[in-house]
Amino acid sequence: MVTTPETSVAARAKYEPVIGLEVHVQLQTVSKIFCSCSTRFGDPPNTNVCPVCLGLPGALPVLNRKAVEFAVLAAMALNCRVNETSIFARKNYFYPDLPKGYQISQYDKPLAEHGAIEISVQGRTKRIGITRLHLEEDAGKSLHEGFANSAETTAIDLNRSGVPLIEIVSEPDIASADEAYEYLTRLKEIILYTGVSDCNMEEGSLRCDANISVRPRRQKEFGTKIEVKNVNSFRFIREALEYEIDRQIGVIESGEKITQETRLYNSNEGKTYSMRSKEQAHDYRYFPEPDLLPLIVDEKWQAEIRASLPELPEARRERMVADYGITEYDAQVLTFTKALADQFEAAAKVAKSPKRVANLVQSELMGRLKAKGLEIGHSPISMTGVALSADLVESGTISGKMLKDLYDLSFERGRDFPAVYEEEGKPEQSRDTSALERIIDEIIGANPKQVEQYRAGKTTVVGFFVGQVMKASKGQANPQLVNELLVKKLQT
Ligand code: ADP
Ligand code: ZN
Ligand code: MG
Repeated sequence: MVTTPETSVAARAKYEPVIGLEVHVQLQTVSKIFCSCSTRFGDPPNTNVCPVCLGLPGALPVLNRKAVEFAVLAAMALNCRVNETSIFARKNYFYPDLPKGYQISQYDKPLAEHGAIEISVQGRTKRIGITRLHLEEDAGKSLHEGFANSAETTAIDLNRSGVPLIEIVSEPDIASADEAYEYLTRLKEIILYTGVSDCNMEEGSLRCDANISVRPRRQKEFGTKIEVKNVNSFRFIREALEYEIDRQIGVIESGEKITQETRLYNSNEGKTYSMRSKEQAHDYRYFPEPDLLPLIVDEKWQAEIRASLPELPEARRERMVADYGITEYDAQVLTFTKALADQFEAAAKVAKSPKRVANLVQSELMGRLKAKGLEIGHSPISMTGVALSADLVESGTISGKMLKDLYDLSFERGRDFPAVYEEEGKPEQSRDTSALERIIDEIIGANPKQVEQYRAGKTTVVGFFVGQVMKASKGQANPQLVNELLVKKLQT
């Protein structure tokens, strides 16, 4: 449970939150940004290290070309302008996990600037500006747990030291906790589509610091901002921001002032706590990195990288709506991951009706996944399976009812639809026509007027008969077979 400080609705209405986010994303290069050590996660501590990433005297950094390409690709996907020349800088601070005593980052000449992400909250779309995107190296990791009698022990793992990161800084354009959540969701989605990072928050591949202030509505100047650091899920960031909005309004309403500080979020309590004040803030004394040349990404290189930019989720959704006649909501679900969208499109190309494939995902798949607590990427029924089932219904080989049963079996057995369909041998079974013929005879006997019409050339009444037979068979009959048998009987 999140407890927020008591702030009246009236007080809340007087103020407007201003939020800017700083997101760090780890790039999935094979080797580190300034040396050839492996970036692999989870290896034994301090096994992927060398003089460069250990910060030993005299070791010199050499820039990883792939890291630059990944960063430029991400920048392009985020609509940034890529600077042809950018400069690496030393960000100086003293901390045990930073052996050199400085981090190589970029400062006044970052790799890319002036980007934007479109978000949509409660049906309203809004553009959130991206101030800058720059390249930097990660620090090592302090381990405070996992040792015997560890209360007083901290160990350092430098495997992460020198892993390439991009930092993406937003404009203070975000006006609510929900908008922040949406911005992060869209940002992660875009980065995942580019393939430059796995954005795994548990492994620290995506980290977010949130800056937040409040100001009286219609006041132009920003209020004093608080930075909330090291929040490890989007949900917690939303909670932390909700808490901060109320806390800051409370402070101002009680006549006090917000002082600039860094705070930490305790997700168990749903509260933020002061970590350090502005007086304790670092003075990073940035200066240009003397061991690296300016980074030049010229037009030709930019064009090469741009050529590898995949279709991005928003554009893809629009195209899928146009190409397959599906709804925006369908497209939203089907682009949940790039892999899923690829699977759907591959299936849609061979399926008789892509729209029916999309409908089945919504009507039959999502509910079953939800009941099992599965994400669509882990569905026992693949898109190929959905496509086959859609075709079988489309051609009348199986009924809607049979499809539901087969889906249930797929989920029970954890097997894909085609396998279960084979195992059940359903089509043969439903080709047992004697029972069906009895029903058909009865219905033909009971509707002489429609039989007359059919024989007079109005062949469309066959639809009426199919409907009656399906009803009488409680949806169990195979519509195509019903159709065949009906036509045969009506013509004799
Ligand atoms: P700093 O120099 O303290 O790191 P920056 O100007 O680099 O501050 O901004 C860091 C982040 O804080 C950016 O995302 C920016 O949009 C946001 N930000 C800046 N001023 C405010 C403010 N008054 N309220 C909320 N967010 C802010
Ligand atoms: Zn190294
Ligand atoms: Mg900053």
